[in-house]
Amino acid sequence: MNNTFDLLLLGSGAHGASLAFHLASRGLKVAALEKRHIAAGATGRSSGLVRMHYDLEQEAALAWESFQWFRDWKERVGGESGFTRTGFLQLVKRERLDALKANTAMLQRLGVPTMLVTADDVKRLAPFLVTDDFDLAAYEPESGYADPVSTATSIMNAAKARGAVFVQDCQVTGIRVKSGKVEGVDTSKGSYSAPIVVNAAGAWSRQICQMAGVDVPLGTWSHDVMFVVRPPELRLPHPTVIDFPNSMYFRPEGGLTLVGLEDGNPLNDDPDGATDHARAGFVDRAIDRFCQRIPAMEGGALHSAHGGYDSITPDQHPALGPIGPEGFWLDTGFSGTGFKISPAVGLCMSEWILDGAPKTVDISLFTPTRFEKGIHLVSEHPYESIWR
Ligand SMILES: Cc1cc2nc3c(=O)[nH]c(=O)nc-3n(C[C@H](O)[C@H](O)[C@H](O)COP(=O)(O)OP(=O)(O)OC[C@H]3O[C@@H](n4cnc5c(N)ncnc54)[C@H](O)[C@@H]3O)c2cc1C
Repeated sequence: MNNTFDLLLLGSGAHGASLAFHLASRGLKVAALEKRHIAAGATGRSSGLVRMHYDLEQEAALAWESFQWFRDWKERVGGESGFTRTGFLQLVKRERLDALKANTAMLQRLGVPTMLVTADDVKRLAPFLVTDDFDLAAYEPESGYADPVSTATSIMNAAKARGAVFVQDCQVTGIRVKSGKVEGVDTSKGSYSAPIVVNAAGAWSRQICQMAGVDVPLGTWSHDVMFVVRPPELRLPHPTVIDFPNSMYFRPEGGLTLVGLEDGNPLNDDPDGATDHARAGFVDRAIDRFCQRIPAMEGGALHSAHGGYDSITPDQHPALGPIGPEGFWLDTGFSGTGFKISPAVGLCMSEWILDGAPKTVDISLFTPTRFEKGIHLVSEHPYESIWR
Protein backbone atom coordinates (compact mmCIF):
# COMPACT_ATOMS: atom_id res chain seq x y z
CA MET A 1 0.00 0.00 0.00
CA ASN A 2 1.18 3.54 -0.74
CA ASN A 3 1.43 5.04 2.74
CA THR A 4 1.46 8.70 1.67
CA PHE A 5 -1.63 10.76 2.50
CA ASP A 6 -2.73 14.40 2.71
CA LEU A 7 -3.52 13.97 6.41
CA LEU A 8 -3.14 11.35 9.14
CA LEU A 9 -5.68 11.05 11.93
CA LEU A 10 -4.43 9.39 15.10
CA GLY A 11 -7.28 7.64 16.93
CA SER A 12 -10.72 6.55 15.74
CA GLY A 13 -13.24 7.42 18.40
CA ALA A 14 -16.23 9.65 17.68
CA HIS A 15 -13.90 12.58 16.95
CA GLY A 16 -11.37 10.87 14.69
CA ALA A 17 -14.23 9.26 12.74
CA SER A 18 -16.15 12.53 12.41
CA LEU A 19 -13.10 14.44 11.16
CA ALA A 20 -12.28 11.60 8.70
CA PHE A 21 -15.81 11.94 7.32
CA HIS A 22 -15.78 15.72 6.93
CA LEU A 23 -12.29 15.81 5.38
CA ALA A 24 -12.98 12.91 3.01
CA SER A 25 -16.25 14.64 2.01
CA ARG A 26 -14.09 17.59 0.87
CA GLY A 27 -11.85 15.28 -1.20
CA LEU A 28 -8.86 15.03 1.14
CA LYS A 29 -6.81 11.80 1.10
CA VAL A 30 -7.04 10.78 4.76
CA ALA A 31 -5.83 7.76 6.75
CA ALA A 32 -7.22 7.11 10.26
CA LEU A 33 -4.72 5.08 12.30
CA GLU A 34 -6.22 3.33 15.32
CA LYS A 35 -4.26 1.21 17.81
CA ARG A 36 -7.21 -1.07 18.58
CA HIS A 37 -10.59 -0.80 16.86
CA ILE A 38 -13.20 1.84 16.25
CA ALA A 39 -14.65 3.34 19.46
CA ALA A 40 -12.13 1.42 21.61
CA GLY A 41 -11.68 4.40 23.98
CA ALA A 42 -14.10 6.82 25.68
CA THR A 43 -16.52 6.64 22.77
CA GLY A 44 -17.25 2.95 23.33
CA ARG A 45 -17.92 3.60 27.04
CA SER A 46 -19.84 6.86 26.63
CA SER A 47 -23.30 7.43 28.11
CA GLY A 48 -24.21 9.11 24.83
CA LEU A 49 -26.25 12.05 26.18
CA VAL A 50 -27.29 14.41 23.39
CA ARG A 51 -28.41 17.75 24.87
CA MET A 52 -27.64 21.36 24.15
CA HIS A 53 -27.59 22.93 27.63
CA TYR A 54 -24.04 24.23 28.10
CA ASP A 55 -23.06 27.45 29.82
CA LEU A 56 -20.34 28.30 27.24
CA GLU A 57 -21.98 29.63 24.08
CA GLN A 58 -19.55 28.01 21.60
CA GLU A 59 -20.10 24.56 23.15
CA ALA A 60 -23.87 25.12 23.05
CA ALA A 61 -23.55 26.10 19.38
CA LEU A 62 -21.51 22.93 18.66
CA ALA A 63 -24.11 20.82 20.48
CA TRP A 64 -26.97 22.47 18.55
CA GLU A 65 -25.26 21.95 15.17
CA SER A 66 -24.43 18.35 16.17
CA PHE A 67 -28.00 17.68 17.31
CA GLN A 68 -29.17 18.39 13.78
CA TRP A 69 -26.72 15.78 12.48
CA PHE A 70 -27.96 13.21 15.02
CA ARG A 71 -31.59 14.01 14.17
CA ASP A 72 -31.00 13.67 10.38
CA TRP A 73 -28.27 11.00 10.56
CA LYS A 74 -29.64 8.71 7.84
CA GLU A 75 -29.87 11.53 5.28
CA ARG A 76 -26.59 13.28 6.19
CA VAL A 77 -24.31 10.34 7.04
CA GLY A 78 -26.15 7.06 6.40
CA GLY A 79 -26.41 4.11 8.77
CA GLU A 80 -27.48 4.48 12.39
CA SER A 81 -26.56 6.81 15.24
CA GLY A 82 -29.15 5.28 17.56
CA PHE A 83 -30.49 8.73 18.40
CA THR A 84 -33.44 8.35 20.77
CA ARG A 85 -35.54 11.33 21.77
CA THR A 86 -36.42 11.31 25.47
CA GLY A 87 -36.66 15.01 26.33
CA PHE A 88 -33.99 16.50 28.60
CA LEU A 89 -34.20 18.31 31.94
CA GLN A 90 -31.41 20.46 33.37
CA LEU A 91 -31.78 20.83 37.14
CA VAL A 92 -29.64 23.34 39.08
CA LYS A 93 -29.39 24.42 42.70
CA ARG A 94 -31.61 27.36 43.70
CA GLU A 95 -28.56 29.64 44.00
CA ARG A 96 -27.81 29.00 40.28
CA LEU A 97 -31.25 30.08 39.10
CA ASP A 98 -30.00 33.32 37.52
CA ALA A 99 -27.41 31.36 35.52
CA LEU A 100 -30.08 28.88 34.44
CA LYS A 101 -32.29 31.69 33.17
CA ALA A 102 -29.42 33.46 31.38
CA ASN A 103 -28.12 30.25 29.78
CA THR A 104 -31.60 29.19 28.64
CA ALA A 105 -32.04 32.62 27.03
CA MET A 106 -28.61 32.22 25.34
CA LEU A 107 -29.65 28.79 23.99
CA GLN A 108 -32.95 30.22 22.73
CA ARG A 109 -31.00 32.96 20.88
CA LEU A 110 -29.01 30.19 19.16
CA GLY A 111 -32.31 28.62 18.06
CA VAL A 112 -32.22 25.66 20.46
CA PRO A 113 -35.67 24.32 21.34
CA THR A 114 -35.55 24.86 25.09
CA MET A 115 -37.69 26.53 27.75
CA LEU A 116 -37.91 27.10 31.47
CA VAL A 117 -40.46 24.89 33.20
CA THR A 118 -41.72 24.92 36.78
CA ALA A 119 -41.24 22.17 39.34
CA ASP A 120 -44.95 21.34 38.81
CA ASP A 121 -44.32 20.93 35.08
CA VAL A 122 -41.40 18.60 35.89
CA LYS A 123 -43.78 16.54 38.06
CA ARG A 124 -46.08 16.22 35.05
CA LEU A 125 -43.20 15.13 32.80
CA ALA A 126 -41.74 12.70 35.35
CA PRO A 127 -44.17 12.17 38.27
CA PHE A 128 -41.75 10.05 40.31
CA LEU A 129 -39.04 12.75 40.56
CA VAL A 130 -38.52 14.61 43.86
CA THR A 131 -38.94 18.29 42.93
CA ASP A 132 -38.84 20.11 46.26
CA ASP A 133 -35.25 21.43 45.88
CA PHE A 134 -35.79 23.59 42.75
CA ASP A 135 -38.42 25.99 41.41
CA LEU A 136 -37.48 26.09 37.72
CA ALA A 137 -35.67 23.74 35.35
CA ALA A 138 -34.62 24.00 31.69
CA TYR A 139 -36.40 21.56 29.37
CA GLU A 140 -35.31 20.49 25.88
CA PRO A 141 -38.15 18.44 24.37
CA GLU A 142 -36.10 17.24 21.36
CA SER A 143 -32.98 16.00 23.18
CA GLY A 144 -32.09 12.49 24.32
CA TYR A 145 -29.20 10.13 23.72
CA ALA A 146 -27.45 8.28 20.89
CA ASP A 147 -25.46 5.08 20.57
CA PRO A 148 -21.78 6.13 20.45
CA VAL A 149 -20.49 2.88 18.88
CA SER A 150 -23.08 3.00 16.06
CA THR A 151 -22.36 6.72 15.60
CA ALA A 152 -18.59 6.28 15.25
CA THR A 153 -18.94 3.15 13.10
CA SER A 154 -21.46 4.60 10.68
CA ILE A 155 -19.62 7.90 10.23
CA MET A 156 -16.32 6.04 9.66
CA ASN A 157 -18.10 3.81 7.11
CA ALA A 158 -19.33 6.97 5.39
CA ALA A 159 -15.76 8.36 5.46
CA LYS A 160 -14.46 5.14 3.86
CA ALA A 161 -17.16 5.38 1.18
CA ARG A 162 -15.73 8.85 0.41
CA GLY A 163 -12.17 7.52 0.09
CA ALA A 164 -10.78 7.60 3.64
CA VAL A 165 -8.55 4.70 4.70
CA PHE A 166 -9.11 3.19 8.15
CA VAL A 167 -6.26 1.10 9.62
CA GLN A 168 -7.02 -0.70 12.88
CA ASP A 169 -4.56 -2.52 15.19
CA CYS A 170 -2.13 0.23 14.16
CA GLN A 171 -0.44 1.83 17.16
CA VAL A 172 1.33 5.12 16.53
CA THR A 173 4.76 4.93 18.18
CA GLY A 174 6.48 8.09 16.93
CA ILE A 175 5.96 11.31 15.02
CA ARG A 176 8.50 12.33 12.41
CA VAL A 177 9.30 16.06 12.43
CA LYS A 178 11.91 17.70 10.17
CA SER A 179 12.92 21.38 10.17
CA GLY A 180 9.93 22.22 12.37
CA LYS A 181 7.42 20.48 10.09
CA VAL A 182 5.52 17.24 10.54
CA GLU A 183 6.41 14.59 7.96
CA GLY A 184 4.51 11.55 9.16
CA VAL A 185 4.30 8.88 11.85
CA ASP A 186 5.81 5.51 12.74
CA THR A 187 3.42 2.76 13.75
CA SER A 188 3.24 -0.92 14.63
CA LYS A 189 2.31 -1.37 10.94
CA GLY A 190 5.12 0.69 9.44
CA SER A 191 5.55 4.34 8.48
CA TYR A 192 2.94 6.71 7.10
CA SER A 193 3.69 10.09 5.53
CA ALA A 194 1.62 13.27 5.45
CA PRO A 195 2.23 17.01 5.98
CA ILE A 196 -0.64 17.17 8.50
CA VAL A 197 -1.12 14.94 11.57
CA VAL A 198 -4.19 15.31 13.84
CA ASN A 199 -4.04 13.96 17.37
CA ALA A 200 -7.51 12.57 18.16
CA ALA A 201 -6.27 10.00 20.66
CA GLY A 202 -8.57 10.90 23.57
CA ALA A 203 -7.11 9.95 26.95
CA TRP A 204 -3.86 8.96 25.21
CA SER A 205 -3.44 12.41 23.58
CA ARG A 206 -0.73 13.58 25.95
CA GLN A 207 1.43 10.59 24.96
CA ILE A 208 0.97 11.52 21.29
CA CYS A 209 1.83 15.18 22.02
CA GLN A 210 5.05 14.06 23.70
CA MET A 211 5.98 12.17 20.51
CA ALA A 212 5.78 15.52 18.68
CA GLY A 213 7.73 17.33 21.41
CA VAL A 214 4.63 19.26 22.44
CA ASP A 215 3.73 19.88 26.09
CA VAL A 216 0.00 20.46 26.60
CA PRO A 217 -1.63 20.00 30.04
CA LEU A 218 -3.90 17.15 28.93
CA GLY A 219 -4.84 14.81 31.75
CA THR A 220 -6.98 11.69 31.93
CA TRP A 221 -10.39 11.60 33.59
CA SER A 222 -11.94 8.31 34.76
CA HIS A 223 -15.69 7.94 35.00
CA ASP A 224 -17.93 5.10 36.16
CA VAL A 225 -21.56 4.52 35.29
CA MET A 226 -24.17 1.93 36.21
CA PHE A 227 -27.32 0.56 34.62
CA VAL A 228 -30.22 -0.18 36.97
CA VAL A 229 -33.44 -2.06 36.26
CA ARG A 230 -36.43 0.14 37.04
CA PRO A 231 -39.20 -1.42 39.17
CA PRO A 232 -42.52 -2.19 37.40
CA GLU A 233 -44.20 1.08 38.46
CA LEU A 234 -41.39 3.05 36.73
CA ARG A 235 -41.28 0.98 33.54
CA LEU A 236 -42.33 3.84 31.23
CA PRO A 237 -39.36 5.75 29.74
CA HIS A 238 -38.42 8.96 31.55
CA PRO A 239 -36.59 12.12 30.42
CA THR A 240 -32.82 12.34 30.38
CA VAL A 241 -31.77 14.47 33.38
CA ILE A 242 -28.67 16.36 34.47
CA ASP A 243 -29.18 16.82 38.20
CA PHE A 244 -26.59 19.33 39.45
CA PRO A 245 -28.04 19.46 42.99
CA ASN A 246 -27.21 15.75 43.34
CA SER A 247 -24.04 15.91 41.12
CA MET A 248 -25.54 13.21 38.91
CA TYR A 249 -27.05 12.52 35.49
CA PHE A 250 -29.33 9.74 34.29
CA ARG A 251 -31.12 8.61 31.17
CA PRO A 252 -33.40 5.74 30.21
CA GLU A 253 -32.56 2.82 27.93
CA GLY A 254 -35.61 0.59 27.60
CA GLY A 255 -36.47 -0.67 31.08
CA LEU A 256 -33.02 0.31 32.35
CA THR A 257 -31.68 3.64 33.57
CA LEU A 258 -28.04 4.64 33.19
CA VAL A 259 -26.65 6.72 36.08
CA GLY A 260 -23.35 8.63 36.31
CA LEU A 261 -21.94 10.87 39.07
CA GLU A 262 -20.21 14.21 38.55
CA ASP A 263 -18.00 13.97 41.62
CA GLY A 264 -15.37 11.39 42.52
CA ASN A 265 -13.98 10.96 38.99
CA PRO A 266 -10.21 10.41 39.48
CA LEU A 267 -7.75 12.39 37.38
CA ASN A 268 -4.62 11.15 35.66
CA ASP A 269 -5.10 7.41 36.13
CA ASP A 270 -3.51 5.19 33.47
CA PRO A 271 -5.96 5.16 30.53
CA ASP A 272 -5.07 1.52 29.87
CA GLY A 273 -6.71 0.53 33.19
CA ALA A 274 -9.74 -1.78 33.35
CA THR A 275 -13.06 -0.46 32.05
CA ASP A 276 -15.22 -3.59 32.43
CA HIS A 277 -16.22 -2.76 35.99
CA ALA A 278 -16.74 0.32 38.18
CA ARG A 279 -14.36 1.24 41.00
CA ALA A 280 -15.11 0.02 44.53
CA GLY A 281 -17.78 2.12 46.24
CA PHE A 282 -19.18 3.73 43.09
CA VAL A 283 -22.36 1.64 42.87
CA ASP A 284 -23.32 2.27 46.53
CA ARG A 285 -22.77 6.02 46.15
CA ALA A 286 -24.71 6.15 42.88
CA ILE A 287 -27.65 4.13 44.23
CA ASP A 288 -27.92 6.39 47.32
CA ARG A 289 -27.83 9.50 45.15
CA PHE A 290 -30.32 8.15 42.60
CA CYS A 291 -32.81 7.10 45.29
CA GLN A 292 -32.71 10.64 46.71
CA ARG A 293 -34.08 11.95 43.40
CA ILE A 294 -36.33 8.94 42.69
CA PRO A 295 -37.26 7.20 45.98
CA ALA A 296 -39.27 4.52 44.13
CA MET A 297 -35.95 3.23 42.76
CA GLU A 298 -35.50 1.51 46.15
CA GLY A 299 -37.45 -1.26 44.39
CA GLY A 300 -35.00 -1.40 41.45
CA ALA A 301 -32.01 -3.67 40.91
CA LEU A 302 -28.43 -3.28 39.71
CA HIS A 303 -27.97 -4.47 36.12
CA SER A 304 -24.28 -3.70 35.41
CA ALA A 305 -21.56 -1.09 35.82
CA HIS A 306 -18.53 -0.06 33.80
CA GLY A 307 -15.96 2.72 33.49
CA GLY A 308 -14.02 4.66 30.88
CA TYR A 309 -11.32 7.29 30.36
CA ASP A 310 -11.42 10.59 28.49
CA SER A 311 -8.89 13.38 28.08
CA ILE A 312 -9.44 16.42 30.29
CA THR A 313 -7.97 19.93 30.19
CA PRO A 314 -7.43 22.33 33.12
CA ASP A 315 -10.59 24.35 32.26
CA GLN A 316 -12.63 21.28 31.24
CA HIS A 317 -13.08 22.58 27.66
CA PRO A 318 -11.70 21.00 24.46
CA ALA A 319 -8.22 21.54 23.00
CA LEU A 320 -8.66 22.15 19.27
CA GLY A 321 -6.28 23.54 16.68
CA PRO A 322 -2.64 23.67 15.63
CA ILE A 323 0.23 23.66 18.12
CA GLY A 324 3.95 22.86 18.01
CA PRO A 325 5.55 21.78 14.73
CA GLU A 326 3.87 22.96 11.52
CA GLY A 327 1.16 20.49 10.51
CA PHE A 328 0.48 19.14 14.03
CA TRP A 329 -3.12 19.61 15.25
CA LEU A 330 -5.11 18.64 18.33
CA ASP A 331 -8.73 17.42 18.28
CA THR A 332 -9.00 16.30 21.88
CA GLY A 333 -9.49 17.38 25.52
CA PHE A 334 -13.24 16.76 25.50
CA SER A 335 -13.30 16.51 29.29
CA GLY A 336 -16.11 13.98 29.65
CA THR A 337 -18.68 15.75 27.50
CA GLY A 338 -17.39 15.37 23.95
CA PHE A 339 -19.51 12.71 22.31
CA LYS A 340 -22.52 14.92 21.63
CA ILE A 341 -20.46 17.60 19.86
CA SER A 342 -18.44 15.23 17.67
CA PRO A 343 -20.36 15.77 14.37
CA ALA A 344 -19.93 19.57 14.52
CA VAL A 345 -16.36 19.54 15.85
CA GLY A 346 -15.30 17.39 12.87
CA LEU A 347 -17.01 19.84 10.51
CA CYS A 348 -15.43 22.92 12.11
CA MET A 349 -11.99 21.29 12.30
CA SER A 350 -12.22 20.40 8.58
CA GLU A 351 -13.04 24.06 7.80
CA TRP A 352 -10.12 25.26 9.93
CA ILE A 353 -7.67 22.85 8.29
CA LEU A 354 -8.86 23.33 4.70
CA ASP A 355 -10.10 26.95 4.63
CA GLY A 356 -7.82 28.51 7.23
CA ALA A 357 -10.62 29.24 9.74
CA PRO A 358 -13.60 27.44 11.28
CA LYS A 359 -16.87 28.79 9.86
CA THR A 360 -19.90 26.88 11.14
CA VAL A 361 -18.98 27.61 14.77
CA ASP A 362 -15.92 29.66 15.74
CA ILE A 363 -13.96 27.07 17.69
CA SER A 364 -10.72 29.06 17.60
CA LEU A 365 -11.11 29.99 21.30
CA PHE A 366 -10.43 26.31 22.09
CA THR A 367 -6.85 26.70 20.83
CA PRO A 368 -4.48 24.55 22.90
CA THR A 369 -2.04 27.46 23.00
CA ARG A 370 -4.35 29.15 25.56
CA PHE A 371 -2.80 27.09 28.34
CA GLU A 372 0.71 28.50 27.68
CA LYS A 373 -0.85 31.96 28.14
CA GLY A 374 -2.62 30.97 31.35
CA ILE A 375 -6.06 31.46 29.76
CA HIS A 376 -8.89 29.39 31.29
CA LEU A 377 -12.17 29.59 29.42
CA VAL A 378 -15.08 30.65 31.62
CA SER A 379 -18.61 31.30 30.42
CA GLU A 380 -20.57 34.46 31.09
CA HIS A 381 -22.98 32.67 33.46
CA PRO A 382 -21.05 29.67 34.75
CA TYR A 383 -22.32 26.76 36.76
CA GLU A 384 -19.82 24.94 38.95
CA SER A 385 -17.24 22.85 37.08
CA ILE A 386 -19.19 19.83 35.91
CA TRP A 387 -16.58 17.38 37.23
CA ARG A 388 -15.40 17.68 40.81
C1 LIG B 1 -18.07 6.60 30.92
C2 LIG B 1 -18.16 7.82 30.05
C3 LIG B 1 -19.41 8.43 29.83
C4 LIG B 1 -19.50 9.54 29.00
N1 LIG B 1 -20.72 10.08 28.74
C5 LIG B 1 -20.85 11.09 27.84
C6 LIG B 1 -22.12 11.59 27.48
O1 LIG B 1 -23.14 11.15 27.99
N2 LIG B 1 -22.20 12.56 26.53
C7 LIG B 1 -21.09 13.09 25.96
O2 LIG B 1 -21.21 14.00 25.12
N3 LIG B 1 -19.84 12.65 26.28
C8 LIG B 1 -19.72 11.67 27.19
N4 LIG B 1 -18.48 11.18 27.52
C9 LIG B 1 -17.31 11.78 26.89
C10 LIG B 1 -17.16 11.29 25.46
O3 LIG B 1 -17.42 9.90 25.41
C11 LIG B 1 -15.75 11.60 24.96
O4 LIG B 1 -15.51 13.00 25.12
C12 LIG B 1 -15.59 11.25 23.49
O5 LIG B 1 -16.05 9.95 23.23
C13 LIG B 1 -14.10 11.37 23.13
O6 LIG B 1 -13.94 10.89 21.82
P1 LIG B 1 -12.49 10.86 21.19
O7 LIG B 1 -12.65 10.42 19.79
O8 LIG B 1 -11.82 12.16 21.47
O9 LIG B 1 -11.66 9.81 22.08
P2 LIG B 1 -11.74 8.22 22.18
O10 LIG B 1 -13.09 7.71 21.93
O11 LIG B 1 -11.09 7.87 23.48
O12 LIG B 1 -10.83 7.74 20.99
C14 LIG B 1 -9.42 7.82 21.03
C15 LIG B 1 -8.88 6.66 20.23
O13 LIG B 1 -7.46 6.83 20.10
C16 LIG B 1 -6.88 5.53 20.07
N5 LIG B 1 -5.45 5.64 20.36
C17 LIG B 1 -4.88 5.95 21.54
N6 LIG B 1 -3.53 5.93 21.44
C18 LIG B 1 -3.25 5.61 20.17
C19 LIG B 1 -2.03 5.41 19.45
N7 LIG B 1 -0.82 5.54 20.02
N8 LIG B 1 -2.12 5.07 18.12
C20 LIG B 1 -3.33 4.92 17.51
N9 LIG B 1 -4.50 5.08 18.16
C21 LIG B 1 -4.47 5.44 19.47
C22 LIG B 1 -7.67 4.79 21.14
O14 LIG B 1 -7.57 3.37 20.98
C23 LIG B 1 -9.09 5.32 20.92
O15 LIG B 1 -9.87 4.47 20.08
C24 LIG B 1 -18.33 10.07 28.37
C25 LIG B 1 -17.09 9.47 28.59
C26 LIG B 1 -17.00 8.35 29.42
C27 LIG B 1 -15.66 7.72 29.62
